Amino acid sequence: MNVSESILDNRRESIAPKLWRPKRVLVTPAALEWEHGRGILERAASMGSEIVELTSNRLVGLAGDNERQSYVNAKTTLAVVVASPGKLRLQPIPPSADWRVDLAEGCPAHCQYCYLAGSLSGPPVTRVYANLPEILGSLADYAGRGAVTSRSVDRMHEGTTFEASCYTDPLGIEHLTGSLAAAIAHFGSWQAPVQLRFTTKYDAVQPLLGIAHGRRTRIRFSVNAKPAARFEGGTASVAARLNAMRLAALAGYRVGLTIAPIMPVENWREAYLVVREESRSR
Ligand code: SF4
Repeated sequence: MNVSESILDNRRESIAPKLWRPKRVLVTPAALEWEHGRGILERAASMGSEIVELTSNRLVGLAGDNERQSYVNAKTTLAVVVASPGKLRLQPIPPSADWRVDLAEGCPAHCQYCYLAGSLSGPPVTRVYANLPEILGSLADYAGRGAVTSRSVDRMHEGTTFEASCYTDPLGIEHLTGSLAAAIAHFGSWQAPVQLRFTTKYDAVQPLLGIAHGRRTRIRFSVNAKPAARFEGGTASVAARLNAMRLAALAGYRVGLTIAPIMPVENWREAYLVVREESRSR
């Protein structure tokens, strides 16, 4: 198959987004006190997830009979929790942005090279934060501060930057959380030189397209060569991600593309050339 045929083949792959449905949703008593947390439960329940109300704020019930089963239990579970006060104190995240802001931690996808496996402790359950108003309310203190874009003569035009995908792929769980939409709207109405940014391997951008984002959000779509798809289980196809990028750009978002990691797949030169040409043709 030549490059042109591969591009056409990729376009034919475009389908409606696949949305993750957690098998179980654990919710802590503290998370239940937040309207945002209860909204997440409602959305998960409407998708058919089992809802388990915990009696304490510790996550329990994830262990299986063996390591493999414990892993499966965690990867099929969503936990609705409250971000601790420590999480509300933002950390610098050079060189990508001034500050890291976590709306969630963990990801339902199964990318074999994902750095989260080595960065997050405990079972790989996807934790989403119910106290979103507190998280968004904490950001104002950081505007105008930071050592990456805020202080760089070359990058100052980007404003104070807040990165939301350090420990999760926020778009992959957005149909359950609504947190990204709320954050985008928050930045959209924030009359200051600030910017929210996130990277994604998902494509369900429809709920974000009508938000008054004020061009203060940048979405970077992470793509790879088609033969690398087998290493990115649970994500949207590359063609779907590129379609999503086009939709986001048409909705006025700042968009970008990351082609990484570069892998030595068969015929890698042509495979990566297809990705590059396909990205340009959107
Ligand atoms: S989509 Fe991103 S965050 Fe999720 S498993 Fe893959 S590389 Fe990790």
